[in-house]
Amino acid sequence: MKNIIDALAKTGFLSLDDFKAIIHCGNAQDTEYLFSKSREQAQKYYGNKIFVRGLIEFTNYCKNDCLYCGIRASNKNANRYRLSAEEILNCCDNGYSLGFRTFVLQGGEDMHYTDDDYVSIIGEIKSRYPDCAVTMSIGERSRSSYERYFEAGADRYLLRHETADCDHYKRLHPDKMSFENRMRCIKDLKDIGYQTGVGFMVGSPYQTEESIYKDLQFIKEIQPHMVGIGPFIPHKDTPFADFKAGSCDLTLKLLAIIRLIKPNVLLPATTALGTIDPRGREKGILAGANVVMPNLSPVMHRKDYSLYDNKICTGEEAAECRFCLSRRVESIGYEIVTDRGDCAAAPQS
Ligand code: SAH
Repeated sequence: MKNIIDALAKTGFLSLDDFKAIIHCGNAQDTEYLFSKSREQAQKYYGNKIFVRGLIEFTNYCKNDCLYCGIRASNKNANRYRLSAEEILNCCDNGYSLGFRTFVLQGGEDMHYTDDDYVSIIGEIKSRYPDCAVTMSIGERSRSSYERYFEAGADRYLLRHETADCDHYKRLHPDKMSFENRMRCIKDLKDIGYQTGVGFMVGSPYQTEESIYKDLQFIKEIQPHMVGIGPFIPHKDTPFADFKAGSCDLTLKLLAIIRLIKPNVLLPATTALGTIDPRGREKGILAGANVVMPNLSPVMHRKDYSLYDNKICTGEEAAECRFCLSRRVESIGYEIVTDRGDCAAAPQS
């Protein structure tokens, strides 16, 4: 196993057989060796610094009907809300004073906001906080819309590809949504000049080892700046309510492999990982992650942005997220920094 891990660390390549060997390996020492190699790479680019992103979940209205997602359009039990521009800016004000230098505007695909609305919100955030990065995560749009947000000052865009396997994509989404369009969006985003994030759920229904391997190949090919992965967690009001959640162990191994495939990538230890394991985010960092994304949304709406069941940090104590995370990160020898947290320059090859 050590040979396989050493070869991966050295070349950034992994055959399907070697990939399977790593994910089936139950030996704790070998797994720790994998994590030590990925930490080494993360530390080479980012030291012991962990970047934070202030996540503003500004709307849970969505026109899509992704089979896994709790805010899908046909979930009549979702308690819908949307924030006004002023409420979004209040979240940023609060976030800025807490030391956040990246704001992530994430939401369902809510057609209530026009491109003019986004352009004006992005412009206002950038003029109040020129030292901050703005990340958009509002799903599939036209190329011209992406261009407008970029010109308004948006720096980054997160659009998980969800799966690089077209047949798998069809089993996770209704017929109306298309794999081709999602790929088109990701290519447009990169082309326009966004720092682009892709990603997928670990253990989503019908996922196979082969489809995960395709996700890794896709990452290698696209060379995104960020990769967001977290376990699939069922939501009770979706068609996937009775499927099993993805595993923490597999998510950790994939974080490590992704770090070794693309050593300078921005890699969050996600809230979903913290939801299936109380120390999931700490374990994620020890497996090579270097970003955390605490919630900056108004506490009163947090429980309504429910993509999956039992999401952490939605109670009244949630206002403390920033400090709680600092303590958690320090407990494992890392440090949260006040920084835009851009992607480090790519390794020379
Ligand atoms: N509407 C935006 C933002 C999506 S929500 C977009 O389309 O990009 C962010 C991510 O949450 C999704 O990309 C998906 O990978 C993840 N997610 C949704 N439902 C989930 C679930 N049940 N378990 C785990 N992750 C989920």
